[in-house]
Amino acid sequence: MRFGTLDGRLVLVSEGRALDVATASGGALPCEVRAALARWDEVRAWAPAAGWAGAVAVDDAELGPPVPDPRQVFAVALNYRPHAAEAGFAAPDAPLVFTKFPSCITGPVTTVALPPGNVDWEIEVVAVIGAGGYRIPRSEAWDAVAGLTCGQDLSERLTQAQGRPAQFSLGKSFPGFGPIGPVAVTPDDFADRDDLGFESFLLTGAAREALQSGRTREMIFSVDDLVARLSAICPLLPGDLIFTGTPGGVGNRRTPPRFLRPGETLISRLEGVGELRQTFVA
Ligand code: ZN
Repeated sequence: MRFGTLDGRLVLVSEGRALDVATASGGALPCEVRAALARWDEVRAWAPAAGWAGAVAVDDAELGPPVPDPRQVFAVALNYRPHAAEAGFAAPDAPLVFTKFPSCITGPVTTVALPPGNVDWEIEVVAVIGAGGYRIPRSEAWDAVAGLTCGQDLSERLTQAQGRPAQFSLGKSFPGFGPIGPVAVTPDDFADRDDLGFESFLLTGAAREALQSGRTREMIFSVDDLVARLSAICPLLPGDLIFTGTPGGVGNRRTPPRFLRPGETLISRLEGVGELRQTFVA
């Protein structure tokens, strides 16, 4: 099942059509995403028999973020060995966690104004939490994930490196720095929910430059492990997001470093989910 938002309301998405859940359920289910995720078992039970007569044609560019207003956005640094190595660190023995403040979250197709500094890309798989919970055992952790979606952890590296010790969260939270979507896909929709391929590339005029690629089985801390470890400390709330980390190939570890420039378009693709498209302006 694929779900997202259209005009801020929860929709199911299939083959270019969107079905408003509240309307199609005759008001039995809520239109607001977090309220629906809190009752996710009911939504899942209702969806297979839903009537699609009232569905409307939808383009990715019209969709909002699968969760427009998450209360907690967790993000994990150095969760792939090649990225830890290029950043000059040993693989961590516990997840290194920061936040992207929720005001940076956007839908899948956007224009992003580049702030002063060095803005970099980080393609990531993002887990969307369903009803949530506290101290979720790893054996039940996948059941707590309502869906997986594609994300970019856009990062301004000068702000990120400011101060001693450096901080992560502010440099990763400028407006538009957290695009997600185009839809979230329930884990049962994937042949192997622990092994999804993803890639990103940059369009500059007619030129296409490959940036990052990987598979989620290469994570140091897998999705279920992250859910268990995070929920051991913070109760997870409906609609919380977990940015699960980026593989190697970020711009600031290239020689010479390569950052996003006005006029460029960043494409990020996650197998079975779809793609993000961010165009950058000064
Ligand atoms: Zn990241």
